[in-house]
Amino acid sequence: MRTIDFRSDTLTKPTEEMRKAMYNAEVGDDVYGEDPTINKLEKLASEIVGKESALFVPTGTMGNQLALLCHTDRGQEVILEDWAHIYRYEVGGLSFLAGLQARPIKSENGIMNPEDVRNAIVKDDDIHHSQTGLICMENTHNMAGGVVVPPSRMKEIFDIAKENNIPVHLDGARVFNAAVALGVDVKELTQYTDSLMFCLSKGLCSPVGSILAGEKKFIDKARRLRKMLGGGMRQGGILAAAGIISLTNMVERLSEDHTRIKELAEGLNKIKGVKINDETVQTNILMINVEDTPYSSNELVDKMKEEGILASSITNDIIRFVTHYYITDEDIEYTIEKLNQII
Ligand SMILES: *Cc1c(COP(=O)(O)O)cnc(C)c1O
Repeated sequence: MRTIDFRSDTLTKPTEEMRKAMYNAEVGDDVYGEDPTINKLEKLASEIVGKESALFVPTGTMGNQLALLCHTDRGQEVILEDWAHIYRYEVGGLSFLAGLQARPIKSENGIMNPEDVRNAIVKDDDIHHSQTGLICMENTHNMAGGVVVPPSRMKEIFDIAKENNIPVHLDGARVFNAAVALGVDVKELTQYTDSLMFCLSKGLCSPVGSILAGEKKFIDKARRLRKMLGGGMRQGGILAAAGIISLTNMVERLSEDHTRIKELAEGLNKIKGVKINDETVQTNILMINVEDTPYSSNELVDKMKEEGILASSITNDIIRFVTHYYITDEDIEYTIEKLNQII
């Protein structure tokens, strides 16, 4: 029986082309700045996102945490969306590592209202107050279901930050999904942030790695702190070789993942009891609400598993599907057919 793995785009394995490039990669000691393949990836990445400098990091989490550490002082507040990955899914590193406190903002489908951001900013002389040190955005927004934050909204928030002299970081784990869905160059989005992190290891299929990008001074500091966190990767060019292919060959095809998630949503929407918020079906993530079916999300996930279909139970009512390079049109048809039988 075949397995169709919708649990995450992180499950993508490196392509044949990547494996060959990894085998042939020219390498050196990156802690000495001497890995030519990492140097090439960092230069390419900085050019693509329109920033002065970039840093190859083992994970998106490390990239985000480095951004917190580099932009802020201990005891400050970070404004971010209530379901932001940095707030909910990074093991509390925000407080544990960077000594910060979160100022979460409720949003509509992951998109923060600029006025709420403005109202949350603390910039005053009151000796009691923790001051706002950073504003974070997330695009696409993962827990909202891969929702794209429009560039106009990013600009509004960025402008408010600049009026108040506050830096902005973008958790752009899937920022290329956002750019492809909008049909724009990724710089349309990245121009409205001082720094960003994006993942090579999700829809872009690399086995390992993310990029942190920003001004040279910021990246120089992040490079130092990456070493402190244990992220100096020596002959990491083996991994960076795959990252270069992610950026050159795997970005445009993300639109196929988006088309397939729409097809899946359309098919599952017809099943009695399955509810989908169509507004959030924009990129490669689909959240379905199953509270009106006879099953809980866990029961359904187990039943699907018996048919070789893997998805994630997010809450008691919500199941998440993620499309990626290894999900085909056939897989979508098969999944719709099987769920019709199960429910
Ligand atoms: C996956 C993800 C991360 C973290 O990436 P890892 O490489 O898994 O550490 C950060 N932010 C968002 C929005 C993500 O989806």
